[in-house]
Amino acid sequence: CHSDECRKMSTTERTFIAVKPDGVQRGLVGEIIARFEKRGYKLIALKLVSPTKDHLETHYEDLKGKPFFPSLISYMLSGPIAAMVWEGLDAVKTGRAMLGATNPLASAIGTIRGDYAIQTGRNICHGSDSVESANKEISHWFTENELNKYNNPLQSLIYE
Ligand code: GDP
Ligand code: MG
Repeated sequence: CHSDECRKMSTTERTFIAVKPDGVQRGLVGEIIARFEKRGYKLIALKLVSPTKDHLETHYEDLKGKPFFPSLISYMLSGPIAAMVWEGLDAVKTGRAMLGATNPLASAIGTIRGDYAIQTGRNICHGSDSVESANKEISHWFTENELNKYNNPLQSLIYE
């Protein structure tokens, strides 16, 4: 089912969330994972990776013409990235809300960027901006085998 009505009901919507190199090096991986876990989202995939320049340029291909593109790519190449897939109701939009605004200074306190970052060029995390880009990003970063299939008995405590 692909209609917006169905999307609002789907507890299996998936989003791609990544802790960028600054977040990994600052020791914020656990904190970011904990927020998604505690919220009730289901962890589908998780790995620490050092992708190629080419991989990162494809990930950010929509921003190719921007003046900050080269510095964005070197920032993303500056260390390993913690890549993950989280699943649940409204995972894409709520995931973005949990991350906060692109510019951390404009992010509300209580969001990840609002609590742990200051500058846009060091904003510690990534989250898909639509279901369509989530699907694209998930298949760009993970193989089908890495997307774990399991039953989580907690689901009945999180969804009515
Ligand atoms: P996001 O979806 O909130 O991550 O924001 P965008 O998709 O617009 O941009 C992707 C990433 O590029 C951001 O998270 C920032 O790391 C970086 N970025 C975006 N805009 C700027 C900018 O104006 N300056 C710098 N230095 N980096 C930027
Ligand atoms: Mg984006």
